[in-house]
Amino acid sequence: MTRRPARAHVVVAGLGAMGAAASYHLARRGAQVTGIEARGPAHSQGSSHGQSRIIRQAYFEDPCYVPLVLRAYELWAELQQATRELLLQRTGALMVGPERGQVVSGSLESARRWRLAHRLLYPEQIRRLFPQLNPDPGDAALFEPEAGMLAPEAGVLAHLGQAAAAGAQLHFGEEVRAWKPGGGGLVVSTASADYPADRLVLAPGPWAPRLLPQLPLEVERQVQVWLEPTDVSAFEARRLPVFLFDREPRATFYGLPSQDRRTVKVALHHGGETTSAEDVRRQVTEADVTSLRRELEMVVPELGRAPVHRAEVCLYTNTPDRDFVVGLLPEDRRVAVAAGFSGHGYKFSPVVGEILADLALHGSTDHPIERFRPDRWSRPGQAAPPAAGPGGTRPG
Ligand SMILES: Cc1cc2nc3c(=O)[nH]c(=O)nc-3n(C[C@H](O)[C@H](O)[C@H](O)COP(=O)(O)OP(=O)(O)OC[C@H]3O[C@@H](n4cnc5c(N)ncnc54)[C@H](O)[C@@H]3O)c2cc1C
Repeated sequence: MTRRPARAHVVVAGLGAMGAAASYHLARRGAQVTGIEARGPAHSQGSSHGQSRIIRQAYFEDPCYVPLVLRAYELWAELQQATRELLLQRTGALMVGPERGQVVSGSLESARRWRLAHRLLYPEQIRRLFPQLNPDPGDAALFEPEAGMLAPEAGVLAHLGQAAAAGAQLHFGEEVRAWKPGGGGLVVSTASADYPADRLVLAPGPWAPRLLPQLPLEVERQVQVWLEPTDVSAFEARRLPVFLFDREPRATFYGLPSQDRRTVKVALHHGGETTSAEDVRRQVTEADVTSLRRELEMVVPELGRAPVHRAEVCLYTNTPDRDFVVGLLPEDRRVAVAAGFSGHGYKFSPVVGEILADLALHGSTDHPIERFRPDRWSRPGQAAPPAAGPGGTRPG
């Protein structure tokens, strides 16, 4: 049984997408919150930078994500209203690929099961509606009108600002090194201080292998590329929605509508090199763009030819099953974790913040997170996969 302290003091380690959202939800429920972030607010070394993220409801990964994303839409709207910032822009999204491939068939399954607005399109219709695209004859596309784009830096700053306004104490440039039981609760240590806490929330993003070495996480390097097509107006939201192409087993890649009337952001989804947040190659080379360009040339020819305006490295933190890790640590149920978002977590950050607040304050949540259990690799009958340590090396 976890007892709810009178006014819980909760330390949140990591104030990226998930930690900022958790700080906000905890503070507005009256908890005493100390947020500790090793770097600056909304920095570009982790997983939540690059100006845009996709949000979509017809979740091809699994229908179990749909109720969570629907709650996230409500919370994004509330946050947007409170801050008067444009955090979510509805553009629609087009999920393209072989009709039986995971992207199209999985999106269709989620759309049907949850009665989400959608339309199935075939190559001739796709070309007629979106002449920028040149799908393969065997392709289909699920068009989802409610999908859109989120602004990640603005979203993190919005959560931080609202958390501070609700009384959270936020510390930047301070790294959590360790925690241990003490003083009837926990003691969370940084280089400069020891913080007493009733509960701890760990949201370290791609630095998770350091704080949570028991989880089988692998950090993956991804490159976000901004291309500069000759006619950028063809890639603005009024002409083309977010698009994602399933070209497995070769690649999955996506693009987002132009936000600056000059560039279009594109990137591969997975397939990047295994690395660590400490040792990642931050520099982008021509070789990083080659495989993406090869894919684009076939199906979005105008972008395949477009010169690179700029490019930036970003990090995924993958679990073996690509499902998140959200829950209480089995070894100490006063510690809630949010990690392993496997390249698709940003859209959920407000609902993950709500869940982390539930877990820290009540020890449970009504949201469906059974699939995300931190101990799912160590349950009886399941062989624990090898853990990836910092640097992507597997300890023996
Ligand atoms: C290129 C790219 C494209 C993506 N596209 C999408 C998309 O379209 N849609 C989508 O939903 N998701 C997308 N994602 C995934 C999504 O962005 C991530 O899942 C999400 O941002 C992860 O948030 P986080 O809070 O876990 O990590 P972060 O935002 O990186 O935050 C972790 C924070 O913890 C801090 N920290 C770490 N260790 C410590 C410590 N010991 N003490 C104090 N602070 C610490 C770090 O400095 C960092 O600020 C994409 C990711 C990338 C890289």
